Amino acid sequence: MPKVDRPKRSKVSIYLEEFPNETLRSDGQVLYCQSCDKSASIDQRGQVIQHINTSKHRGNKDRKLIFQQNFISTSSASTNSKSVFNDDLCRALIRLDIPLFKLKNVAFKNFMEKYTGHTIPDESTLRKNYVSGVYEETISKIQNIIGDGPIWVGVDETTDADGRYIANVIVGKLSTEPSKPFLLCCEELDKCNHKTICQLFNNAMGVLWSNDPEAAMAIKKTVELIDSKNLQNNLSFISTNFGFLVDTISKLETSKMPLTESLEIVDNAIKQLERVPGEIGVLTNSKLKNVLEKNTGFNTVMSIRDILLNKTPNNNYSEIEYTRKEIMCMKYAPVHVR
Ligand SMILES: [Zn+2]
Repeated sequence: MPKVDRPKRSKVSIYLEEFPNETLRSDGQVLYCQSCDKSASIDQRGQVIQHINTSKHRGNKDRKLIFQQNFISTSSASTNSKSVFNDDLCRALIRLDIPLFKLKNVAFKNFMEKYTGHTIPDESTLRKNYVSGVYEETISKIQNIIGDGPIWVGVDETTDADGRYIANVIVGKLSTEPSKPFLLCCEELDKCNHKTICQLFNNAMGVLWSNDPEAAMAIKKTVELIDSKNLQNNLSFISTNFGFLVDTISKLETSKMPLTESLEIVDNAIKQLERVPGEIGVLTNSKLKNVLEKNTGFNTVMSIRDILLNKTPNNNYSEIEYTRKEIMCMKYAPVHVR
């Protein structure tokens, strides 16, 4: 028969009786702290007291208590069709940019089940029953912040690793304060041309302002505008490949940049384009001049910039039809070049 160290055994049981609320446990020989997940030294009573008084032990004990309470409340709340645990798990994965298919990973699944005591749902369960709730909440949050606008919209298309055309629509509020951009929608396009981009823009605006007839009219007008030949020409020109433009574009991607600063960058880019020598220089400059003249929107923001800088608007720039408040809201209007 194995010998049991009597003094040790009695010491352990004394501590268990003396500190019943410290999550201590024993196999009869070793004193184990469940909160800290380690054994405690029992040679001296002072050592046990020292352990249970450490801030680490107290923190661990509080967390364990909260965990147990949450476990009980989520387990009982899960009796209806939706599980609170699954909902929380879905939100955590989405906020962390962790793809839901990672739940198929056996090591992760086992770890989660072992330490949470909950069955880990299939990826498809989360997709079917939980993702839509998070999506609707996110859209409604964006709608609340954007309100009735005014807004700016950015559409960007890229080819992913599998050769698919993926387009993203970002939206932000035009305001006197810098505003946070939101990814409103992300879609795969059959092909990338002005028609598919217009359709995407239309869909995105439908997500943002689904039930507003006035907004529907504005969307229709904007789609017609995007569809116009003039804008297509402008876009073709901007995509012309000049080295310094790469730098210009990345500078303009700086967020929260005031309109006056971003237009200074554009101004410098124009000056550099004017210095391009030879036939191509002549062609691009005449094209640039042409585009800038035709681009009434650019002229308008230049005039707004001059007003924001308290300068008399340059005669080259068109008269503008904005109110003082609207002009103030342009302070952080983003300027993008493609
Ligand atoms: Zn402890």
